[in-house]
Amino acid sequence: MEFIDLKAQYKHLKQKIDARIQTVLDHGQFIMGPEVQELEEKLAEYTGVKHAISCANGTDALQLVLMAMGIGPGDAVFCPTFTFFASAEAISFVGATPVFVDADEVTFNICPLDLERKINEENSSGKYSLKAIMTVDLFGLPANYPKIQKIADRYNLKIIEDAAQGFGGAINGKKAGSFGDIATTSFFPAKPLGCYGDGGAIFTDNDDYAELIRSLRIHGKGTDKYDNVRIGMNSRLDTIQAAILLEKLAAFPEELIVRNLAAENYHKQLSKKNDIIAPLVPEGFYSSWAQYTVRSENRDTYMAQYKETGVPTVIYYSKCMHEQSAYQSLGYKSGAFPNAETLSKTVFSLPMHGYLKNKTPIINC
Ligand SMILES: *Cc1c(COP(=O)(O)O)cnc(C)c1O
Repeated sequence: MEFIDLKAQYKHLKQKIDARIQTVLDHGQFIMGPEVQELEEKLAEYTGVKHAISCANGTDALQLVLMAMGIGPGDAVFCPTFTFFASAEAISFVGATPVFVDADEVTFNICPLDLERKINEENSSGKYSLKAIMTVDLFGLPANYPKIQKIADRYNLKIIEDAAQGFGGAINGKKAGSFGDIATTSFFPAKPLGCYGDGGAIFTDNDDYAELIRSLRIHGKGTDKYDNVRIGMNSRLDTIQAAILLEKLAAFPEELIVRNLAAENYHKQLSKKNDIIAPLVPEGFYSSWAQYTVRSENRDTYMAQYKETGVPTVIYYSKCMHEQSAYQSLGYKSGAFPNAETLSKTVFSLPMHGYLKNKTPIINC
């Protein structure tokens, strides 16, 4: 059994994907070919935003957004400590400082209560100019935008939605990628919507951000690539990846249904065990289940038992951001984020993908 079965997906979509790739090989526009624009239009339509702008990967997407917002040295961006490194890394890369926030123990996402506490602390210290909140839709579940938007408005902060894992999720029908001021996603193969290499995208309704980012992703271009009006990056999505994503996006709604059925099956099975806490999706929220992540004090025992029966499990994440060697200079102490630290010691994830149909692994222990 595979943790994420990309081969089963390819088998299912092979004819369509192969034909799409062949079309690109035939027309030869490997950079910014017609499939890139076609994909951007489909992505905007899917998420319900005005502009979808593709780029080279999800980390670049975050960096491009921070650059477009003019965030840099002396600025602070609030970010969950329980996330993948890239969220915090992008903030540091543009010269700003990540201010870490604890997780909500139940949803794994940024805790609105602790967020407000951290904003107040930073406001009274006055060390940084406070600019934005980078929420992360961890494991496919949108962060608590109804609450976070109110906090952002109260303190005049922007919201950057890191939907690298969240693509396909929603709150009351409003899709991930459409929350906050601007959002990003990743098409890394293992994400809910993945390509066959690296890829990413940015979503926004804001025309100014969109125009800036379209320039920043191609060397700060003006009217063309050889008219450079600002310092940018080389961060484009390959045409072949766009072609692959067009077919994967068409199949995505069906895969989401399978993912949610698999999650229901897991839930039925696991809620019988008193030492496993199955993930909870709050009322009105919809998860794209980038990961199916459970909590258990007996994590090691369960992971060993799953392994014996041929079911792979993975720990996302065994180390919080404030515990990373790269962030020791920020001076956070162990115990500073009790929920996130407990999660890092108790979580593990079970196989999850869009082709699990009735194959949710059963384990008797
Ligand atoms: C994967 C991921 C990213 C980075 O995406 P890449 O395409 O790998 O650069 C950023 N944030 C989160 C939360 C992620 O899971």
